[in-house]
Amino acid sequence: MIDMLEYDFLSPSRIVFGWGRRRELGALAATLGRRAFVVLGSRTLQRNGAWDELAAQLQNAKIAVLLAATISREPEVADVDQLAAHLHEANVGPGDFLLALGGGAALDLAKAGAALATNRHGQSVRDFLEGVGQGLQITEPPLPMLAMPTTGGTGTEATKNAVITVADPPVKKSIRSPLMVPRVVLVDPELSVSVPPETTAWTGLDAITQLIESYICRFARPIPQALAVHGLQLAMPRISEAVRDGTSRPAREAMAHAALLSGLALANSGLGLAHGVAAALGVFAGVPHGLACAMMVPVALEVNRTVAEKPLAELARATLQVTSASDAAAAGAFIAHVAELCAELGVPARLSQVGVRPDQLDALVRGSRGNSMNGNPRQLTDPELRELLEKCL
Ligand SMILES: [Zn+2]
Repeated sequence: MIDMLEYDFLSPSRIVFGWGRRRELGALAATLGRRAFVVLGSRTLQRNGAWDELAAQLQNAKIAVLLAATISREPEVADVDQLAAHLHEANVGPGDFLLALGGGAALDLAKAGAALATNRHGQSVRDFLEGVGQGLQITEPPLPMLAMPTTGGTGTEATKNAVITVADPPVKKSIRSPLMVPRVVLVDPELSVSVPPETTAWTGLDAITQLIESYICRFARPIPQALAVHGLQLAMPRISEAVRDGTSRPAREAMAHAALLSGLALANSGLGLAHGVAAALGVFAGVPHGLACAMMVPVALEVNRTVAEKPLAELARATLQVTSASDAAAAGAFIAHVAELCAELGVPARLSQVGVRPDQLDALVRGSRGNSMNGNPRQLTDPELRELLEKCL
């Protein structure tokens, strides 16, 4: 943590949170425009009628509804380019907006599409991606966006980046700009009731990882830290219940709120090793983001234990009612608790269990570098990171 009190804090202009509040969608959408380009991520919402109900509300509010994309896996360059082409063909301009409904994939796709719709100085989203593209910047405000997260996990509704998978070289990279934060966020935890237990576990552990990493991050800041503590106090005691009983309103509310807070926190601080390696695990072993984070968080905390002992002890005291212990003991208790939570929720402990092979280690090390890893409290060299991953095989 930097001692000087100096920070920026970005957030959506309006956050509407509450059980059943999806019924306010029509009125909220009408504040953004008359034509909604919709990106849908969840087939369940189409199957169980939730989407039909929402579309009817938009139509009642005299908003034209145009389905622009559906996506059920993490977005790739071609997905974004296709969406951008669709938006260009529709001649988007004032009065048009994006509505994204689903998990992190749908929201990220919509955020990147909204940015490309108005920033036409690149050929492809690739030109804007950090580290692989031409380094083009988002200069024009994207189309306004209304984000409705439904999986209670990623927090991407509150962040300024979208993570996109590139095939060659195989990496996951971000298109990022403070202009990309969605304008309006509508979180109705009731929509997450239909999320299956495994997805609930992985996305919930992603939110927990994001809260922890943003708290102990090299770029930690006071507002994100306050949000992270609150988010962890909600999520850590409730995640198991959300997985066990998906219909539990208090558990779903806690997880959806924690996820939103995790997005606000990470967008205004940073992340760490678990997220750095998770990106590489997604690319090289096809491990879903949340599961990859959950597999790496106990390892990441152990690696950072000595350099981040004080913030880890603070988290232990804030979340586990640890009182009298020394910082070292409190930090140890926190790490042990997180590791137990991951094990209890069925997270595999070894990388080989998700198909990682020894000959992939060098590629994993290269693929782990980037914005997330830069925030890690302890800076590891490539050989140190390789050795660490080898021990996790
Ligand atoms: Zn994450």
